[in-house]
Amino acid sequence: MKLIQLEDKYFLYKKIKNINLVVSTANTEFGIHPKLENYDQNIEFIKKKFDLLKIFTVSQTHSNIVHTCDYDFVNGIEGDGLITKEKKCAVGVFTADCVPIFLFDINKQVVSVVHSGWKGIYKEIVVNAIDVFIEKYNSNVSDICVYIGPHNMNCCYEIGEDLKNKFLNHEHFKNNLRIFNGNNLDMIECIKISLLSKGILEQNINVINYCTYCSEEVKFYSYRKNNLSLNRIFSFIFIN
Ligand SMILES: [Zn+2]
Repeated sequence: MKLIQLEDKYFLYKKIKNINLVVSTANTEFGIHPKLENYDQNIEFIKKKFDLLKIFTVSQTHSNIVHTCDYDFVNGIEGDGLITKEKKCAVGVFTADCVPIFLFDINKQVVSVVHSGWKGIYKEIVVNAIDVFIEKYNSNVSDICVYIGPHNMNCCYEIGEDLKNKFLNHEHFKNNLRIFNGNNLDMIECIKISLLSKGILEQNINVINYCTYCSEEVKFYSYRKNNLSLNRIFSFIFIN
């Protein structure tokens, strides 16, 4: 992804044909969360700069629920994944250390984004998103591309012994030592295991290689580093 500047804000941006992937950064102050005072203003800024009609979001609860968004979708219902076919309508998630995951099918012109912390990874929300692609939009699994966004990576994401054991007893992650770097959980490895179990092609799995905790070159909000602050990065995808 390349770093782009729009007025005083910086975004990571990638365009694949008419599919656009965007991640806001913290290079300059730009925390985005529905409970922050400047939320409406920040969302309007994004709509204007990326020429969007709508931005769909949900009230994130670390669930495995994925919502289909038609043009009249009403924001704010509980869930952690969104999927749409509507042009110029972005689907987005707020994260700070959790993983934003982009999924799209260029052939069927469908885009999705998922919020997945360790809970979403454990519940394999990404599997549910793929099921929606296949069942609702008739996607061929081999056409689905995935980009795993900036999050607290295996360099920094230390977890406790209990949680480590929980993962080591998980149906799909069981006895897979690659999911740990010492006591640090490797969420990319877990997500890859879930994706491959659904038949996603390995060459269609991409990583946007930035750690929200320790990245210097591009800065992000980190829940752990920024003392549990409400500031979030906003990761969104749209078709134009
Ligand atoms: Zn790190």
